[in-house]
Amino acid sequence: MEAQMNPPPTEDADFYDVVIIGGALSGGATANLLLRQNPGIRVLILEKSAKLSRRVGEATVEVSAYFMGRVLGMTQYLNESHLNKQGLRFWFTNDEVKTLGEASELGPLYQVRVPSYQLDRAAFDEEVLRRAGVAGAHIVRPASVTDVQLSPGKEQTVSFRNGDGTKTVRARWIVDASGVAAILARKGGWWVSNTEHPTAAAWSRWKGVKDWDSRELAEKFPQWSSAVYATRNTATNHVIGDGWWSWWIPLKGGDVSVGVVFDQRLVDWPQDGGKIGDRLKTFLMKHPVAREILADAEFDEEDVHWRKNLAYYSTTFAGDGFVLVGDAAAFMDPFYSPGMDWISFTTSRASALIGAQRRGEPLNDLVERHNRDFARSHRCWFEAVYKDKYEYMGEFDLMSTAFIFDLGLYYFGVASRPFRSGEKALLVPPFSQTVTGPIFRFMRAYNRRFAEIARRRRKRRMLGKTNREQRCLIPGFALQSANAKLFLKGFAKWAKVELDELLAPSKS
Ligand SMILES: Cc1cc2nc3c(=O)[nH]c(=O)nc-3n(C[C@H](O)[C@H](O)[C@H](O)COP(=O)(O)OP(=O)(O)OC[C@H]3O[C@@H](n4cnc5c(N)ncnc54)[C@H](O)[C@@H]3O)c2cc1C
Repeated sequence: MEAQMNPPPTEDADFYDVVIIGGALSGGATANLLLRQNPGIRVLILEKSAKLSRRVGEATVEVSAYFMGRVLGMTQYLNESHLNKQGLRFWFTNDEVKTLGEASELGPLYQVRVPSYQLDRAAFDEEVLRRAGVAGAHIVRPASVTDVQLSPGKEQTVSFRNGDGTKTVRARWIVDASGVAAILARKGGWWVSNTEHPTAAAWSRWKGVKDWDSRELAEKFPQWSSAVYATRNTATNHVIGDGWWSWWIPLKGGDVSVGVVFDQRLVDWPQDGGKIGDRLKTFLMKHPVAREILADAEFDEEDVHWRKNLAYYSTTFAGDGFVLVGDAAAFMDPFYSPGMDWISFTTSRASALIGAQRRGEPLNDLVERHNRDFARSHRCWFEAVYKDKYEYMGEFDLMSTAFIFDLGLYYFGVASRPFRSGEKALLVPPFSQTVTGPIFRFMRAYNRRFAEIARRRRKRRMLGKTNREQRCLIPGFALQSANAKLFLKGFAKWAKVELDELLAPSKS
């Protein structure tokens, strides 16, 4: 088998070292990395749309913000054209809660310590793609890929349709960055729906959403207003119910992205009541916090979206001649915004794999490790954080305990690594190394336990009992320490939950 192809003569206009399918964040980011790490490499990006539209994936977290700011070098652009994010904030309710002031709150007390951003992805992804073009990528758009023929270790062929008809190009590598279209995974028969996690989502961008830091709300709910020192409006606010959560992400310029995600086993999404946007509003308006903040808001009729069965993965992530990045490789769940962290890891590793082949390194072991690492990372990440989490999503006491552990361990084991070791940390996806086994088992254990406790409460009709007028305000997670005090607080809260469970009547 041919391990490495010679670089093509430059006059061979139909041959590229790498063809990237999809020019949104995953495709643009991979191109930027490849061009920086391999001077002279020939990269073609084929993007279906003439102009990228708004898309979900608007909240970054610490790893994706590191990737965008420090690896892609976009900190100044992010600060000028998008919003600095102030962490995650959650709002819980039960039948006794009638107003925003009575809802329970979980979130940061102060402004956060590590950068993250709220992005308008239509603008951001265009900027990443523009920079790839400036760095030397050849971009063809609108160009819709219609066929790909893989030939391991040899030349791959890609056919696409654009204004000039259908064209075929050849390449040593194909990077699939086609998002949920997941072209290679579906063609290869590797695409698997994650039926253990049947979530669905509806979303839109809204105008007229109230400012959480406004005088109006401060005067209406003075105690509520003074309870927190941070700005609440630029957090990702989560209005939460049994089996569902919603995100409230402000975008530069005043629009707010608001959408609901729910577990289809637990929530009956209204089938009647008008178009998706109307049903989304009706669904949210049952929650007292949403009722307050959305009172005068209107969604954009042209920008309403609905997607069922969100979670899926590919059983193959790479071979000698192709590699899958971002949503084309897998999608787990939007809660905690891991999507662009996944993009940071998959694009960094894709670029490293292609670089290794170009340097003549034997690929078999690298490809095997690539597939093993991402399969393990995806499975463990899912089981540790997401599996059955919607069972206890609406429970203030369980979610605030899980949040302390989930975020504390994310800071300790994932977010701190690139800050300590630089961008090479992004070559190691979370949970892919056996050394993280104990952390994975601990996370899976409390996640399973809290889901079980919520199931019991559901049977006893005791869900949401602690959801009124509680506050769990976190002074802040830090990168340099294990946040020992916070962990102690987490264990104390867990002990209280177990004690309550022990004392609870076995039946209602
Ligand atoms: C409800 C929801 C909320 C989310 N919220 C967050 C969040 O807050 N934070 C976060 O980090 N992540 C979030 N995500 C995940 C995030 O949206 C994705 O991980 C991210 O947008 C994927 O980017 P991508 O570049 O891989 O794919 P996409 O953004 O889907 O881009 C794929 C590109 O490929 C192009 N393409 C497709 N087919 C073809 C073809 N045949 N030929 C040529 N081009 C093609 C498309 O036009 C598109 O531009 C959320 C996801 C969902 C479903």
